[in-house]
Amino acid sequence: MDPDNDWKQRYYTQIERLEQQEQRWQEIERFLRQAVSRLTLLGADIDDRVLNGHLHALRAAIRNEADSLSLQPLIDAVSDDLRRLEQGEPASEAGDETAPAPPAEAASDAPPADDDRAALDALVSQATREMLIELLERLPVSSECVASAHQLKERLLGGVDSRGMPAIVAGIADLIAGMRQVVQQERRELEQFLRQITQRLQELDRLVAASLDQHEAAIEAGADLDRAVQAEVSGIRSSAAGAADLITLRAMIEQRLSTITEHVTEHVANERQRAEQERQRAEALAQRLKTMEQETDSLRDRVRQESQRALIDPLTGIPNRLAWNERVGQEAARFRRYGTPLSVLVWDIDRFKQINDTYGHLAGDNVLKIIARTFRELVRDTDFLARYGGEEFVILMPETDLAEARSAAEKLRAAVEACKFHYKGKRVPITASGGLASFTGEDTPESVFARADAALYRAKGGGRNRVEVDGHG
Ligand code: GH3
Ligand code: MG
Ligand code: MG
Repeated sequence: MDPDNDWKQRYYTQIERLEQQEQRWQEIERFLRQAVSRLTLLGADIDDRVLNGHLHALRAAIRNEADSLSLQPLIDAVSDDLRRLEQGEPASEAGDETAPAPPAEAASDAPPADDDRAALDALVSQATREMLIELLERLPVSSECVASAHQLKERLLGGVDSRGMPAIVAGIADLIAGMRQVVQQERRELEQFLRQITQRLQELDRLVAASLDQHEAAIEAGADLDRAVQAEVSGIRSSAAGAADLITLRAMIEQRLSTITEHVTEHVANERQRAEQERQRAEALAQRLKTMEQETDSLRDRVRQESQRALIDPLTGIPNRLAWNERVGQEAARFRRYGTPLSVLVWDIDRFKQINDTYGHLAGDNVLKIIARTFRELVRDTDFLARYGGEEFVILMPETDLAEARSAAEKLRAAVEACKFHYKGKRVPITASGGLASFTGEDTPESVFARADAALYRAKGGGRNRVEVDGHG
């Protein structure tokens, strides 16, 4: 491709991507705002038995990186339910079979008894909270918003009932609005940059054209001088032929010579001026090119930094799920091409909810950091560690078959068990369970992950603090 258009194309693609991103956030924000107003209207009478199902589906969709297109029907379903509830109509059946059935004891027409109410509230806010925590974790918030995102997450982790929910949801909507602004700003800057560069290129073009004009003018001036000198010389020749005496001849020749000298002096002065102008132009040109280079560099750095930031989990500092998806895609492609072994190890901290509930979620956050550090110190440089979400971590091990990966996993499991986490001077035992699977045949990242996850599930069922291997169940 033409290199001139290549970079332009890249910036345009970037702008397009930002536009899409912005639109998606706008939709999610709109949905959240709608949900807030409905939640506020419903107040304490919120009935989430059915809503719960939709929330689960929505959560699953967010988990699966759904784009706004596939989110839309889910968002509509939740919105419809909220509307019906608001108008006192019975809500529709939850639309997704992955959604859990509404609890049988809670018939939807009778108002719930106080006990039911409390149980329901607990159930609902648990599902909603988890969904919102997930959403918050997925938001690639800019550095200015990290603090408020963190605060919202802490509030969610600390437990909120349905009354506190509207404020939280509104907070998240604000956060998304803030992100949209950042995206908009970024897009505007890119567009501005493109305009600037185009303008600069036009300026350069003008400078070069002026330079060429000058060059032509110089040739022209040389020719003029030549003609003028020729004229004087032939004047001398004809005066010599027709001169009556030597004195007149000498006077005439002197006259002609001084005219020639004038022409030459003038020409030299003009040329000097032209050369000076030329030098200045060349300097301006060099200066402009330098500025352009600097601007391009800083823009490139910024774009690079931004995309780097979007790939890092702010709490633990290790790659996030987005980064994981990218990397596992690349390694899977390599596996398909060369068939070299590739293993996936999924971790889930044991009874993490209990750690949060007993010691507080700040302690929980610390545990996450410690575990991330423990894993990071022990995995190979060629392995890829990421926080998959909440208290789940994943490790991708290229060039590692199931047997090797198993012994690595065992080492990691033992390291987590041995890690020293203290609360108020007392040691708090931490363990994690792992599930391991390797790529074979037609495997995709999703199919391998599903098998590793199934193995993890067995590890949980088998008593936790252990690693189970795919195909050995
Ligand atoms: P199991 O052994 O079966 O895995 O039990 P568990 O309690 O670890 O499993 P569960 O999935 O029920 O609980 C996970 C908890 O992790 C629930 C959620 O509130 C908490 N959590 C998710 N993200 C974060 C986070 O960023 N910080 C903290 N402190 N807690 C989080
Ligand atoms: Mg879990
Ligand atoms: Mg867990």
